[in-house]
Amino acid sequence: MLNHRVYLSAPDVGPVEEAYVVEALRSGWVAPLGPQVDAFEREIATRAGTAHAVALSSGTAALHLALQTLGARPGTVVVVPTLTFVATANAVMYTGAEPVFVDCDPATGNVDVGLLAQLLRHLRVSRKRVAAVVPVDMFGSCVDYGELLPVCAAASVPVLEDAAEALGATYRGRPAGSFGRAGVLSFNGNKILTTSGGGMLVTDDALLAERARYLSTQARQPLPHYEHTEVGYNYRLSNLLAALGRAQLVRLDGMLTRRRALRERYAKLFAAVPGVRLLGDGDPGANCWLTTIVVDPDAAGWCAQDLAGHLAALDIESRPIWKPMHLQPVFAGTHAVLTGAAQRLFETGLALPSGSSLGDAQIGRVFGAIGQFLDER
Ligand SMILES: *Cc1c(COP(=O)(O)O)cnc(C)c1O
Repeated sequence: MLNHRVYLSAPDVGPVEEAYVVEALRSGWVAPLGPQVDAFEREIATRAGTAHAVALSSGTAALHLALQTLGARPGTVVVVPTLTFVATANAVMYTGAEPVFVDCDPATGNVDVGLLAQLLRHLRVSRKRVAAVVPVDMFGSCVDYGELLPVCAAASVPVLEDAAEALGATYRGRPAGSFGRAGVLSFNGNKILTTSGGGMLVTDDALLAERARYLSTQARQPLPHYEHTEVGYNYRLSNLLAALGRAQLVRLDGMLTRRRALRERYAKLFAAVPGVRLLGDGDPGANCWLTTIVVDPDAAGWCAQDLAGHLAALDIESRPIWKPMHLQPVFAGTHAVLTGAAQRLFETGLALPSGSSLGDAQIGRVFGAIGQFLDER
């Protein structure tokens, strides 16, 4: 049967997207840049509550340019949560800066702010130049910025918010992406809003936005011929993909509603199951990108991998929480301040199908499969 497999977070596209992309194609603006890019930037800036937005080819590119613009380079340090997708740490490596990893709060998976404060004091004493702290809004739940921002301000370190997963999320009513000197959004295929591939740098800082825009277009000087005084990148988003993004933006609130409704259903189902909790449960501003359970095997009598195996046999995708960066072979030897929380979440967490494109039949299959698994315990 076609589309039998249930995916974790499949793209949610249809006739609105088709109409927007065809219109962009017919307009003749196929090259990178064009009116769709300009409009998409304005619309995302409005949504993220920032003055400026720079559309780029990926969230990773946005992280890279933001870090470089904030002064990350060899001899500097960038503080990154150990529990994140590898792109956050890779972007630091592109700049030549040294990443330092910090463990997380076990309740939310977001960076442990107390530990971060200790680390920043330590780095200050050892006279390290810290270019940025990069908090990640884990699975679409904002970091506690009421705690984090004063800690970074006290250390005079700029914050770059990795809100790649958090478009549409809020913290105390303020949109994700707007909390640091700059924020990063991703429109990768599995994110809430997709351009098939793309990202955005959002900021109130006009100079930062201008500098990132310049670096993203091969650092070309404003002259009739090609003139370059420094190394740039080819990181701009194409006009066609921006049209796709604009169509998705029209549908964003509806897509968020579907993800939130799914989270509610999971919450109800697992409320009665001993030893199981939802990661970041009770965050009213979460965009519910990926609903993730955390299973205490002693209390539950089963472990996350048992459920993953049961679902896989029924062609239903699930996935462990990110493997922490300090456990990745590529970052062996990197300095990390740890409590063990991220590793425990990696070992006991499971992300469940959360996509807004899931139909009632597919959702029925997922809940039927989980119900059967629980009944058999
Ligand atoms: C997806 C993601 C990125 C990277 O975004 P791309 O658009 O895929 O390059 C960065 N950070 C986090 C936390 C992500 O989930």
